[in-house]
Amino acid sequence: YLEKAKRMNKVINAYIQFDLEEYLLEQAYKVDKRREKGEQLSKLAGLPIGIKDNIGTKRMATTAASRLLQDFYTGENATAVQRLEDLGVINLGKLNMDEFGMGSSNENSFYGSVINPRHKDYVPGGSSGGSAAAVAADMAVFTLGTDTGGSIRQPASYCGVVGMKPTYGAVSKYGLLHLAPSFDQIGAVTKTVEDMAIVMDNLIAYDPKDPHSKMYKMEKSFESRLKEDINGMHVALPKEYFGEGLSKEAKEAVLIAAQDLEKAGAKVEEISMPFTAYLVSVYYGSTCVEVYEDLMRYPEKITGEEKIKRRSQGFGTQVKKRILLGGALLQGENRKYYNKALEGRKFICNEMNELFQKYEIVLSPTATGTAFKFGEKQSPTAMYLSDIYTVSANIAGIPAISVPRAKGEDGMPIGIQLMAGRGKEDILLKTAYKL
Ligand code: GLN
Repeated sequence: YLEKAKRMNKVINAYIQFDLEEYLLEQAYKVDKRREKGEQLSKLAGLPIGIKDNIGTKRMATTAASRLLQDFYTGENATAVQRLEDLGVINLGKLNMDEFGMGSSNENSFYGSVINPRHKDYVPGGSSGGSAAAVAADMAVFTLGTDTGGSIRQPASYCGVVGMKPTYGAVSKYGLLHLAPSFDQIGAVTKTVEDMAIVMDNLIAYDPKDPHSKMYKMEKSFESRLKEDINGMHVALPKEYFGEGLSKEAKEAVLIAAQDLEKAGAKVEEISMPFTAYLVSVYYGSTCVEVYEDLMRYPEKITGEEKIKRRSQGFGTQVKKRILLGGALLQGENRKYYNKALEGRKFICNEMNELFQKYEIVLSPTATGTAFKFGEKQSPTAMYLSDIYTVSANIAGIPAISVPRAKGEDGMPIGIQLMAGRGKEDILLKTAYKL
């Protein structure tokens, strides 16, 4: 894997850096030895993985793909990374992304764009473009990514792999460089739903170091529940998700998936989510303020003019735009827009929670169609609108997964999205498994 990842990286640019070969081989050797001795190891032991570069690692810099943080070390592993390393997982390196997770195409990285492994003219999606591309190109067995508004699910859809964002607080975020703390969630990219269940069985755990961490009691592993039937399950199809902007092929992919769930015994029903038109405004209106509040502290340990100078030179355009927008939203009269966004968030949260009292699953497209080409989306609004189907899960803090489902006319993959109620990863995974 390491050899292949290094070779492919010259084209794909999924990794920002690799750990030392000697060290990695030593780790692999240790796992081998433990296995030889007859030790019962985790299914994940010895598997080569990659970590998105906004998740802290002890041995490697954590740059969030920002020029400003080129030499930034968190000094310790994020809890999610540590959990995996304790199981004998081998972390090959740090994965490319949009700077601080801001973007939907991976065109906003200081380290250059990631290339979609399915076709070099297409973006891999973002912001976890490196995480999705690495799995799609067999440069890692699975990867960790982060999802604030779709950053795991959308690139997974564009690269033809499985991407999942768990419930807010289910996977520890200790050691993460945040984009918008009340939206961010660490999740994973895998090749199959089965792999995802195994990864989530090992990642989801209470962490006292993360104040947002939640306790989830799972009697049985997700993996062991995948084959459970879904007879009588209520699946909702939000009609607003099928309006303007959705490609014919993506629509078809969702409708066929709905039929498959029906064949498996589920009851699929069309519903209305009238707040859909406000999702993107609520998302950007509230996240930009969190960006402003969180990112103004960089670069750390420096003050005064020097801080301002370094920040101006170090942050990329997209990050600056969002900081400015966030700052502006807090000023004087403008606050009414921010307050509206917060109100909207609360409203959407309540509506979604109510929805999940009646339905176990909401089925939808992940993105409006297949991946787009580099440079194709120039206007920020067009780019922001590509998050329309994914942001609701972050606004409501619920788990969501994208699974590859079809191919478009251009031969590029199309993913579909499933969402479930808070803490219902088991239901989400077993339903996704049927697709
Ligand atoms: N594309 C969205 C944004 O730019 C989502 C980012 C994310 O989930 N990290 O904010």
